[in-house]
Amino acid sequence: MEYKEIKIDFLYGENFISYVCPYEKIAAIKSTPGIYSWHIRIKKKHQMHHLLSLFGNISIQAEVKSTLRLKYQGELKKQIGNINTNSLDDVTLFSDSIFSVNYPLYIGISTNLNKRLTTHKRQFEKQLGKLNPDLSTEIPADSDVESEYFGLRLAKIWPKKLSTDCLFVKFTIPRKCIDNCISRSINCHQECIKKVTEDLLYCETFLNTIFNPVFGRR
Ligand SMILES: [Zn+2]
Repeated sequence: MEYKEIKIDFLYGENFISYVCPYEKIAAIKSTPGIYSWHIRIKKKHQMHHLLSLFGNISIQAEVKSTLRLKYQGELKKQIGNINTNSLDDVTLFSDSIFSVNYPLYIGISTNLNKRLTTHKRQFEKQLGKLNPDLSTEIPADSDVESEYFGLRLAKIWPKKLSTDCLFVKFTIPRKCIDNCISRSINCHQECIKKVTEDLLYCETFLNTIFNPVFGRR
């Protein structure tokens, strides 16, 4: 399978188009502007345990203000209660559910989805090979460097035994580009990119605000 277009008609005249792409097929994504999100799926029972350890390693930086100028600062780790991963019989039900709910690990936009997502994949795999990823530097937003930062943060807590092909991406392409560029097999040019960039930025901010992905920008 390459990636797949999902078109849903809700029977009242409107329809929705998005795309789903397996981790291994990211290189096949077209060089078009769009919004993308990273997700995770599970195929086998033992991976449920690794998934719990992934989310159990997620933390946020917190600051609490007290009286006068007293502040409390530190890292808050997500606490996952005891979930017995052995008590489930129907792993397919679990796999389908987690795929259906589709919690985003990261949401971003790019003027070239192919370039951005292949960079994410490459940087993630590069960081996985490193022993002590460096998290100290300031990263400019929406750049290749920022891509590395996402790959780095994910790689830092990625359970070694969880296969990377559990990752997949979803993306949305502006209809203008689907109709005018992709359907006619022409590449998006500067004019076309300029027209959609502002709206992509708006959607990215809105989605990040309401969904709050765990690896979202700080
Ligand atoms: Zn276009």
